[in-house]
Amino acid sequence: MKRIVVKVGSAVLTQNDRIALNRMRALVDFLAELKKSNEVILVSSGAVAAGYTQVQLDKKIIKNKQALAAIGQPIIMDLYSQKFSFHNIIISQVLVTSANLSKDDDIRRIKNTVDTLLENNVIPIVNENDATSTVELEVGDNDQLSAYITKHTDSDMLIILSDIDAYYDEDPRKNKSAKSIKSLHVIDESELQKEASPHGDFATGGILTKLKAADYLLSNGIDMFLSSGFDLSDIKSYMFDSKQTGGTLFIKEAK
Ligand code: GLU
Repeated sequence: MKRIVVKVGSAVLTQNDRIALNRMRALVDFLAELKKSNEVILVSSGAVAAGYTQVQLDKKIIKNKQALAAIGQPIIMDLYSQKFSFHNIIISQVLVTSANLSKDDDIRRIKNTVDTLLENNVIPIVNENDATSTVELEVGDNDQLSAYITKHTDSDMLIILSDIDAYYDEDPRKNKSAKSIKSLHVIDESELQKEASPHGDFATGGILTKLKAADYLLSNGIDMFLSSGFDLSDIKSYMFDSKQTGGTLFIKEAK
């Protein structure tokens, strides 16, 4: 049995300042299927965006963003709880800070908690503890957070489900003839130096943070798959039929 971390971003979970309930349901159905033959950990964003559906605070002000996360985190968890209950799956919430991830003792505790949840058939749902993270010390984006969680929980791979359906040789929003890259073994250093270009008001990373996550995992010998969170057919083909119909596989060595 493999241990798989799946990360889903705010752009997938929300649409026009509302929670995208159909997409969330499709995600949960996919995770329930995946869980039949794997251990599954979910890293879910969407706290700040969900908070904004209730109280429209200016999220550029840090204390507002933290308050929005505090409002939105239970909303997201409540929705997951309802949707997973259709599959008789119990969920749990694991909130971590960047400070946790820099201390060996805390990392061990996170792993022990996640191990215990998985042993008991419970899905851990991880997010950064945005309400208490300080700006200087925040991980900041869940792409990198999910890469750290993948490594520190001894997981076999990370799946990032995003509004970006693959990594392209050029920016597909600027160049219509950009081609998606099927698989990659090394990330060019110059790509990692570029500026972040998040899509949407609540997205944090864009492609840059995904490349950083992939780079970190590749250097630790762990695979990562980037594919669409809007249409799950590529990730389903890859995971359930071992066929790659889309998305980008970041993989240490050619198989
Ligand atoms: N932790 C933030 C949230 O749940 C999201 C960070 C990110 O977009 O990567 O809203």
